[in-house]
Amino acid sequence: MFKLNRKNGVSYYTITSFEETGLVKHGFSTREGGVSKDCYASMNLRFNCADPRENVLENYRIISDTLGMDYKKLVLSKQVHEDVIRTVTESDAGNGITRENAFTSADALITDKKGIPLVTLYADCVPLFFLDKRQGVIALAHSGWKGTVKRIGQKTVEKMKKDYKSRAEDILAAIGPSIQECHFEVGGDVARIFIDEFGSSAAVKYGEKYHVNMQRAITDQLTESGIPRENIDDSAICTYCNSSLLFSHRKTNGQRGNLGAFMELV
Ligand SMILES: [Zn+2]
Repeated sequence: MFKLNRKNGVSYYTITSFEETGLVKHGFSTREGGVSKDCYASMNLRFNCADPRENVLENYRIISDTLGMDYKKLVLSKQVHEDVIRTVTESDAGNGITRENAFTSADALITDKKGIPLVTLYADCVPLFFLDKRQGVIALAHSGWKGTVKRIGQKTVEKMKKDYKSRAEDILAAIGPSIQECHFEVGGDVARIFIDEFGSSAAVKYGEKYHVNMQRAITDQLTESGIPRENIDDSAICTYCNSSLLFSHRKTNGQRGNLGAFMELV
């Protein structure tokens, strides 16, 4: 279950199944609790937009404090809608925060190192959280429609198995707030790609228009990789439907900030 928490004016989601392990600090930010204005109000975690960099850095400070993470150690992804899964070590601490982002392509981050907080960013794309309770491995993956078709979630699980000897039955997975079937209208070309890859239930007709269900396609990938259905927690929260609390690219025609997924092994 995704639970909405409020602490010192900051709202963020946590995943109860992850919380119960006691192995991680984690959270998914909302728009509430930051210092940014207008379409970035207020907890914007997106650099390289009209929001001044010092505001964005201050937002990272606030959310890190709230989640009990060391702001200076955050490791940011480099999201380019590809399927590169980057292994993170202590030497990456501060990537994209205290120093320039050194990654060229990293839509997913994975680590077995404690005290290194991973960060991925969203505004409608699908946030994926993974935790191997037995081996002590975490991963975050950014699964937009292209990443979903490239099966970045499934590839992340496969990398956990290969590099860390994870067993699928030990992995908890969670699907965070993202645009849901109710609002993810796509053209016939994209619908066709999903139907070819995931079967007819991945794209549903709403009148004349196709709507894609990325979360269902992702759930199928994860169960295919062996993760038990009961280990997968789907928030079923739509960013478009809840755009006063969450940033939605579609709802705002791109005039928006970014939400962040954060996770660290303790
Ligand atoms: Zn919706």
